[in-house]
Amino acid sequence: MKFIVVTGGVLSGLGKGIVTSSLGKLLKARGYNVTPIKFDGYLNVDAGTMNPLRHGEVFVLDDGTECDMDLGNYERFLDVTMNYYNNPTGGKIFNLVLKKERRGEYLGVDVQFIPHVTGEIKEWVRKVGKESNADIVIIEVGGTIGDIENSYFVEAMRQLKLEEGENNVLFIHVTLVPILKVVGEQKTKPTQASVRELLHMGVQPDFVVCRIEEPLKDGPRRKIALYCNVKESNVISDHDCKTIYEVPFVLDEENFSEKVLNELQLPVREKHMEDWSKLVDNIKNPEKEVTIAITGKYTALADSYVSIKEALIHSGAHLKAKANIKWIETTDIENGKASIADVLKDVDGIIVPGGFGSRGTEGKIKCIQYARENNIPYLGLCFGFQMAVIEFARNVCGLEGAHSTEIEPNTKYPVIDIIPEQKEIDEKGGTMRLGAYPAILKEGSIVASLYGKTEVSERHRHRYEVNPDYIEILEKHGLVFSGRSPDGKLMEFLEIPDHKFFVGTQAHPEFKSRLDSPAPLFYGFLKACLK
Ligand code: GLN
Repeated sequence: MKFIVVTGGVLSGLGKGIVTSSLGKLLKARGYNVTPIKFDGYLNVDAGTMNPLRHGEVFVLDDGTECDMDLGNYERFLDVTMNYYNNPTGGKIFNLVLKKERRGEYLGVDVQFIPHVTGEIKEWVRKVGKESNADIVIIEVGGTIGDIENSYFVEAMRQLKLEEGENNVLFIHVTLVPILKVVGEQKTKPTQASVRELLHMGVQPDFVVCRIEEPLKDGPRRKIALYCNVKESNVISDHDCKTIYEVPFVLDEENFSEKVLNELQLPVREKHMEDWSKLVDNIKNPEKEVTIAITGKYTALADSYVSIKEALIHSGAHLKAKANIKWIETTDIENGKASIADVLKDVDGIIVPGGFGSRGTEGKIKCIQYARENNIPYLGLCFGFQMAVIEFARNVCGLEGAHSTEIEPNTKYPVIDIIPEQKEIDEKGGTMRLGAYPAILKEGSIVASLYGKTEVSERHRHRYEVNPDYIEILEKHGLVFSGRSPDGKLMEFLEIPDHKFFVGTQAHPEFKSRLDSPAPLFYGFLKACLK
């Protein structure tokens, strides 16, 4: 088993996760079994309690782990399924160490960063590799070199190399090479400074990957090699391109994956990227374009809905279409700042995504009503599914004031209510209905035809459900619950048959969408928008 450690320098948000995913993809395309691990230095046990506005989307794994959106990129690029152990955080590691200390497992010694914390980290990483039968474990260290938060993790990786030996552990440092516009010069000083910082920690990078707007020139490349003590051929240009899915090709313009395998003393096998290349081509050269409205509270930051954006790109790649997103701030609709007809007049489809709390909900409900009444394709995801039920109850079934008890605890018609098991819970972290749950789809329904089967599994993250007391009246008026939990109690999918496309799900199918296999509901939705 070999290990690749990816660190980042200069500043955050460089796209280190995309470099890690892309390298993983390239190695996988050469027939290696690659397991990614992302280390996050924060002391939260998981990302579930973080604000998506500040931190980006909370991604959910099959096993219910709430994590950083980088894990989503690994799954999307590598077409693998991650779990709790692929995302060690400061919180998880310290939790482990403190629990051991209380159990007396370190009896007689003082518990220290070295060897105890670093020891746990090394064991964690090796175990994940072993259990997934990895040829190569690729470990991304979150944050920027120089942060206190990830320093003990980098130290653990330094020790890992000492123990595993040369050619078994490889360090890749991703940095920024800014271009000074006035002189047009590619500046290497930030890279030099950040590699020096890494050297202070006892880590010599084997590769420096340079994020840069245009291809890296020979002069700066030589300079980086000299100052950073890296072979010139191991300074890799990671210049801007049109889509993140193209990054593997950008990196391999300089035979990155081949060089990495050489350094690891692994045979360079033939690379198979033909299908991927076709899909990237479709993303870059779409034949059609549509406008999709997405409503939501976090519209200020597109990062909070990364998986939805990616799911649209995946489906678009297969349909040779580009979905332009129009973000809708629904509070503007509520307070009369914008008229719904104006806001939605030029859109081809509407998505109401997941959400929590009351802000903007009346505006979302209005958007759904508009979609339903004007035969505009609609896709409701989790909260958007619940809001569709509320809209239908109010405006079709005549249950005036129907609501979710999350927003209106005293509503006369609680069509969405808390799951009984959730009523007893006071802790907030990791206590929702989380992770993959199976659903049985109705034969002949729209959703069954999109999935091409009647037993599906999608990921969840919610506390509230359709209230069973209202199913009968909703269905009597034409709403079809086309997917339910295996025991029949929980409503998982809904649809309106005589509509261009009106589908909702209590799950988050966007989390399982991948470029090679787009989420069926997104595919169906986009196809309807294109008509
Ligand atoms: N707030 C809703 C619930 O908890 C929906 C959550 C979501 O959209 N992820 O059920």
